[in-house]
Amino acid sequence: MGRKKAVVFFRNDDVRDKLDDSLIRLTEVCMKYGVSISHAVEPANVTEEVVDWLISQKKQYPGLVEIIQHGYSHNLANPGQKMEFGGNRTFDDQFADLRKGKEIMDKLFGDLWSPVFTFPYGTYNQATLKAIEQLGYHTISSKMQYSSKVRLKNFVGKLLGKDILMGKKINYHPGIRKGYNLREISVSANLIKKYHGENLADHFTLEEIKAQVRLALKHTGVLGVLFHHRYHGDQIGLTEDLIIYLKKKGVRFSTISNIKR
Ligand SMILES: [Zn+2]
Repeated sequence: MGRKKAVVFFRNDDVRDKLDDSLIRLTEVCMKYGVSISHAVEPANVTEEVVDWLISQKKQYPGLVEIIQHGYSHNLANPGQKMEFGGNRTFDDQFADLRKGKEIMDKLFGDLWSPVFTFPYGTYNQATLKAIEQLGYHTISSKMQYSSKVRLKNFVGKLLGKDILMGKKINYHPGIRKGYNLREISVSANLIKKYHGENLADHFTLEEIKAQVRLALKHTGVLGVLFHHRYHGDQIGLTEDLIIYLKKKGVRFSTISNIKR
């Protein structure tokens, strides 16, 4: 009663070289239900075929399809190391990659993309955030959890205005990061339970995903669901069931940029 409707966004990472059926079908099921989706593109890896398709989708469904950026190259050349940004990388080093990425996005998508940045493997450091802010992105999207331990960490970290506290990243979702002109809108539900290599994964059941949704919505009015389309080729039914469940709950769907401040 009188409570504001929860807002849900779908973020799909690792949009890169292949125009997979799974990418098309995930987008189709979202469009069928009028659900927005934010496709996170790897600038160094995306191909003309995928770019053309994304542009056609964006033009056909301007309010529902959002094009955002996922890292620069996803460090694909070095598969042993699950990190692209963060670690010991310096500001200058990361700024150079981020700028290259942004220039590619501008060149490929013009004003059809939104300067929202998501981190491959979820890794970043303070220098990454500073570089992202200086390059004019308005929002970052990372991962957010709601266990009591993580909530305590975020509570203390935000109180102290920290980016990182005792080695743990502090989430400011859904708000402006302290000390930056940068909003954080992060994801807290995920379809994948366990990865098996580059293309196979065990998925959570619908009941398990509903539990993630319920937990997050106890603590936030903005819920993000993370997709990695290439793993979900045979999970379109699961995605559709999740959409139906969320619609029954009466949530509102939004792109990341359109989530109200
Ligand atoms: Zn990724």
